[in-house]
Amino acid sequence: MSEVRNVIIIGSGPAGYTAGLYNARAMLNPLMFGGYMSGGQLMLTTDIENFPGYPEGISGAEMMMQLRQQAEKFGLEVHDKDVSKVDFSSSPFTVTVEGEEYKSHAVIISTGAEAIWLGAENEDAQKGRGISVCATCDGAFFRDQEVLVIGGGDSAMEEATFLTRFASKVTIIHRREVFRASKVMLDRAKTHPKIEMKMHRQVKTWLSDDNGLTGAILEDPRDGSTEEIGVTGAFIAIGHKPITKFLDGQVETDESGYIVAKEHTMTSVPGVFAAGDVVDTRYRQAITAAGMGCQAAIDVEHWLENNIHN
Ligand SMILES: Cc1cc2nc3c(=O)[nH]c(=O)nc-3n(C[C@H](O)[C@H](O)[C@H](O)COP(=O)(O)OP(=O)(O)OC[C@H]3O[C@@H](n4cnc5c(N)ncnc54)[C@H](O)[C@@H]3O)c2cc1C
Repeated sequence: MSEVRNVIIIGSGPAGYTAGLYNARAMLNPLMFGGYMSGGQLMLTTDIENFPGYPEGISGAEMMMQLRQQAEKFGLEVHDKDVSKVDFSSSPFTVTVEGEEYKSHAVIISTGAEAIWLGAENEDAQKGRGISVCATCDGAFFRDQEVLVIGGGDSAMEEATFLTRFASKVTIIHRREVFRASKVMLDRAKTHPKIEMKMHRQVKTWLSDDNGLTGAILEDPRDGSTEEIGVTGAFIAIGHKPITKFLDGQVETDESGYIVAKEHTMTSVPGVFAAGDVVDTRYRQAITAAGMGCQAAIDVEHWLENNIHN
């Protein structure tokens, strides 16, 4: 049988690296499979201004490199490979990577959640250049500018209301007549003097010049008619998809696929822990993910002490 590790960490975002740092410093010799997108969601973004410790801000890629270096310095072993399968039915657990099986007493799942993008024409080129999926992260870059929010749920209303702190005007567009948002959130957005709502509209094409986003061509899905809107910022708020499919239902998730924490950071399977956006339907920030990574690592230490190394 192959060596049984104390802990395998799946995912290399802020949650994973922080867990790795803590478990490495606790001499647990952690092994990380960082995945196809090593460094996680922040690799997609340019400026991070809200992670404590960087008064001048820092690029996402640079920050993730530093988190990795810090954890590796204390002994975290990282492989930038995807976990394709897990088996939590018996202990030690089995984690399969490129056909090879790895064993561990504990597992931390920190595979994050993907923001759902629209897939409109010219969208990929403008991601991070005017088009965002996080108002808390990027709203402050759009001071006194006109911005668009896409979506009809509570998140869209919350993003739009938050953006009124910075933007001169916020237009919410929604494909349908009926909103999924709760009445209170909808009313707050509807009655805000800086917010305009346009129903039966979807983005067909993003417009841009050398400086970034300049607007969008909106389409009415009922008859295909179009209109142009001028904005320098756009926030897509149509939801997130947690990355939990590879778990194949072995830990309890909610109806959207987010892992449900049972006892602190422990999942429905004792010895399997989860941290970051993969469990977080509310905050979804680098610092909260890192905080949960720390919690999961400490929970793993206690769990190993009480159940394996006692
Ligand atoms: C464009 C953008 C800008 C943002 N800006 C900010 C900001 O300014 N400030 C802020 O606080 N937050 C920001 N966020 C949110 C922040 O990125 C997330 O909250 C944070 O990255 C979540 O960390 P995480 O560790 O939970 O997951 P992630 O960062 O999503 O990392 C998940 C990791 O899991 C790996 N993975 C997935 N599947 C597998 C698998 N099967 N096997 C192995 N590994 C796997 C991935 O490769 C990745 O490394 C932004 C998000 C986006 C999309």
